Parts: sequence; structure tokens; C-alpha cells
Amino acid sequence: MGIRGDRLFDGVTDHYLADAVVLVDQGAIVAVETLADARSDVEVVDLGDVTLLPGLVDSHSHLVLDASDDPVGHITTSQDEVVLEQCRAATRAALQAGITTVRDLGDRGYLTLRLREELQGDPSTGPELLVAGPPITPSGGHCWFLGGVADGIDGVRQAVRDHAARGVDLIKVMVTGGEITPGSVPYLSQYGPDELRAIAEQAHALGLRVTGHAHGAQGVADAVAAGFDGIEHATFMTADGVRHDPDLFNVMAARGVFVSVPIASTDTLAAPPPGRQTMRAAGVPITVSSDAGIVETKPHDVLPRGVAQIARNGFSNADALRSVTSVAAESCGLGDRKGRIARGYDADLLAVRGDPLSDPADLRNVAAVFRAGKPIRRPDAVGAHR
Ligand SMILES: [Zn+2]
Repeated sequence: MGIRGDRLFDGVTDHYLADAVVLVDQGAIVAVETLADARSDVEVVDLGDVTLLPGLVDSHSHLVLDASDDPVGHITTSQDEVVLEQCRAATRAALQAGITTVRDLGDRGYLTLRLREELQGDPSTGPELLVAGPPITPSGGHCWFLGGVADGIDGVRQAVRDHAARGVDLIKVMVTGGEITPGSVPYLSQYGPDELRAIAEQAHALGLRVTGHAHGAQGVADAVAAGFDGIEHATFMTADGVRHDPDLFNVMAARGVFVSVPIASTDTLAAPPPGRQTMRAAGVPITVSSDAGIVETKPHDVLPRGVAQIARNGFSNADALRSVTSVAAESCGLGDRKGRIARGYDADLLAVRGDPLSDPADLRNVAAVFRAGKPIRRPDAVGAHR
């Protein structure tokens, strides 16, 4: 079958393909054509005056956190089945918003692996999930309550092996402290260079990517030196404020270390630290992610709102769209299958009313979502956003 829209953003190119038909077979894109070129015997679903985009990729989410006024309180007291049910609701909300791939970076009890399996059984019921399991953190460290505690070089190596044995898709490490854990200091390192190197070596030996939560400048530098594939936050905090290191930016750019920038919790806090521009100018690949679940203002369908936010803060609109499609997919190791509308890619599509290359806020005007080529049932049409 074919899916037609007046405009198509392919996840990479700066301008639209007009009058575009995406030909889909068995969940994959087999061709992208204009209507004039499409074979007349192909059934075409014409969505009319919409923009087709690749389904969005959220590279940093927390399905087990409920975006309530007390996510940490809830995750530390709730039964597994309750948490799992809320994870299911979170993935449904994400899919309705056009988020067709979710990388979960903070699980409890490997619940997201159960969910990943459920969704694999029927892809049209949820996004494709990549899961890290409980983030690896030292005793008493950031998000220790999620259960991924590991200390010392042998301890962290074992933790990586245990995660791999459970079937995770990647390894997530709490390199520095974080904001939602009482007693944790965001700019302080939780692991030293030797432990970080042990984690990266072990993960890579097992074929897994590794990304590190790091607010502290030292932690970012140590994680990059250790061979991490990605850095979450990368706010470069120190005891005396933010300290950027242009030389480190150059290393990250040369090595292709992805920086995942979670959107601000509220639009009024949208100004990103000035270093983000410098990082970008140096060529560091930057993705925009949600960190969904950690606060009330970040429900699991919040990512599209963040795209407009980042576009108001120094990204071109096309860069902002790429940061949640092709670049985000590459950061997840899915660059050959997600984040683009092109032959051979998964038929995960978002159709929105309006013109997101001119106004990324239009990403929220969802007209249709397709997952693995199947249309998603949506309870109400446009404007379902909170
Ligand atoms: Zn997070």
C-alpha cells in the first residue's frame, strides 16, 4: 500500500518532497515516490494536506517513572504489576504522539524488558523499545532505588554482564550525581576513570552501546575518555558553575560521541546552556530527548513539544527535526532502520497538519501515526496533547 501526503520530510533533507507517496510492504518502506510515479494498481491512503515525517525517536525516557508530583516516591513503593501497567500507558501515550521508538534509560526490576516483549508481539500497539534495564550506579548513588547498584571495577564489570544476560539493548551508567535523588550532587563524579573504562570495555565486548548520565564536567570528560558512545545531559557543571572544554568538544566530535539533551521541564526554562551552541559548532552530534517521567511537566508524550523549544534556541528547524529523527536513531544504533523515510527503513510514520519545517510546533497537530506500516487507532484526532 501507499501513504500519501502533500509534503514529506525524510528525516535528513532540508526541504520537503511534494506530493509524496510512501510505499509500504510488510512493515517496511519499499519506495518513496511522487503520486505521478506511483503504480496505478497500488492502493494509496491519501492523507491530503499533511506533512509526513519519520516516526519520532525518543532517546531518553523513563517508562517506570509516572510524571506525577512524586515519581520517585511512587517507584520506590509500587508493586511490579502496577508499575508495568503504568509503563504500558506511557508507551501508548508516546505512540499516539508519533513517538515510534523509545529508548528507556532507567528501569526497575527489568520491567521494560517484559513490556518490550509484549510490544514485539504486536508492533502496532506501541513504540519499538530499546531498554537499558536499571541504570548502573554506586551504592547510595543517583537512582540507586532502581536497583542497578554496582561498586568497584569487578562489581561494575559483573553488573554489565548481568544486564547483558538479562537481554538489555544497551548499558546506562550514572556517571555523576543527579537531581531527583536526595543527597546526590549533580556535578560530582560517582565513578572514577578505571570503573568507567571497565564498563565501556565490558559493554562493547558484549556488543552493547553505553551511554552515561553526566552533569559534571569531570564526569563527561572521564566517560568520553573511557570510550562511552553517548552522554546524557552533558551540562558541564562544576562546584563553581559551568565549565566548558572546547578541546573535549573536538574529541567528542571526532569520535562521534552523541550528546542527548533532554528538553527543559517547562517552556519558560527553555534557554539551553550556552555551551550547547559551542558543542554543536564543534560538530558534536546532538539529539533532543525527553527524560520523560521524572517530573509532572514531562509526560511520556512530551518530546514533540521539546522540538519547538530547541528550535527557539539556536537550532534551525530542520536541525531540530533531525535531532528527533535521523540523528536520534543513529545515537541509538538504529541509523539503518529508524529515523528516516527511505527505502529499507521501518514504516514508522507521523503525519501532522501544518508545516513543521516552518513551525516545529506543528509536530503536535497529529493527523495519523503508522507503526510498522499499520495505522494507529487514535481516540481523538488533532490536539490530543496535554
Ligand atoms: Zn533520565
